Amino acid sequence: MDIKKSINEIINYLKGSNTRLVAVSKTKPVSVIMEAYDAGHRVFGENKVQELTEKADQLPKDIEWHMIGHLQRNKVKYMASFVTLIHAIDSFKLLKEVNKQAKNHNRVIECLLQIHIAEEDTKFGLDENEAMDLLKSDELKTLENVKIVGLMGMATFTENENQIRSEFKHLKNIFDRAKSTNSKNVEIKELSMGMSGDYKIAMEEGSTLIRVGSSIFGERNY
Ligand SMILES: *Cc1c(COP(=O)(O)O)cnc(C)c1O
Repeated sequence: MDIKKSINEIINYLKGSNTRLVAVSKTKPVSVIMEAYDAGHRVFGENKVQELTEKADQLPKDIEWHMIGHLQRNKVKYMASFVTLIHAIDSFKLLKEVNKQAKNHNRVIECLLQIHIAEEDTKFGLDENEAMDLLKSDELKTLENVKIVGLMGMATFTENENQIRSEFKHLKNIFDRAKSTNSKNVEIKELSMGMSGDYKIAMEEGSTLIRVGSSIFGERNY
């Protein structure tokens, strides 16, 4: 895989849009991440906390690390000192833990709420009402060390583009609705949707962050 070439193709595709790339480097070694870094890229996503912290330790400090995967509460503390954006908040309990750990480091950590939009029930996330309730809750206002800056979702794993598009449209509708809840620690502006197979559709439907792995780094061997 010519990483420099593949990442530049995506960056060029994004030019002139409001969409930014999170390069998903999970399972890939630091040497490979450095190829994307040397091509000028600075925003990387991982889905496991241990892998994230190990790589962050070894790689340049101007990288913005995004935690994009399902997050367990007991792991938040390991990345709270440096993580830039947590994409997959799916419960108030988890948000409270992020707040507590962020406070320990005197930081405000930006977070996205993960919304369940796929038809599979294996994918985590809140439904629309749960998300709106959380955003409007008084308890949220007491969490001074987190800021909710948007929503994230994953479409069904399918070849059916119409289905993918309609799931992204659904998420965009929730996103537009969520904007009305802006308050001290809620500022809805990021919509994280789109992966290697569907980022072009996601962009057409209003994505601001795409999370792309295999189209840049090649297939993963687990
Ligand atoms: C792995 C992963 C991606 C990237 O997937 P690709 O199909 O390789 O682009 C995006 N989002 C999440 C949450 C992931 O776990």
